[in-house]
This record gives sequence, C-alpha cells and structure tokens, in this order.
Amino acid sequence: MTKIGMKPTKTFARVKCPECESETIVFVSAKTTVYCLNDECKTVLAVPKGGKAEIKGEIVELLA
Ligand SMILES: [Zn+2]
Repeated sequence: MTKIGMKPTKTFARVKCPECESETIVFVSAKTTVYCLNDECKTVLAVPKGGKAEIKGEIVELLA
C-alpha cells in the first residue's frame, strides 16, 4: 500500500538490521547516528544527512 520513495512523508521507520535482523524504530529525520538496539550488534542503521537520515537497513514499515 505505502510506496517507499525518495521522499517519505512518515516520521518513523521500522528498520530491519542487515546483520542480526532485529527491528529498530528509527526517526526518519534523525540528527544523530542510529545504531541497532541489539547490544551485541550495534550496526549503524541510520546516518544523518542534513534533514533526512540515510537508512542503512531494510525499511519494513513506515510509521506516522
Ligand atoms: Zn543488529
């Protein structure tokens, strides 16, 4: 239903970690680097890119 394009209008994204497959809720406009919540993984999931963050993992779902 929701198409994931270049300009997501949602605020949060549920991102699946490419390393451990845990899902972490990421603020789409994160101003700081976001890491996987799994303490033994801590893969970078989002990198701030002036406004919108660059999501590194798979976006499972966009949340309002
Ligand atoms: Zn992980």
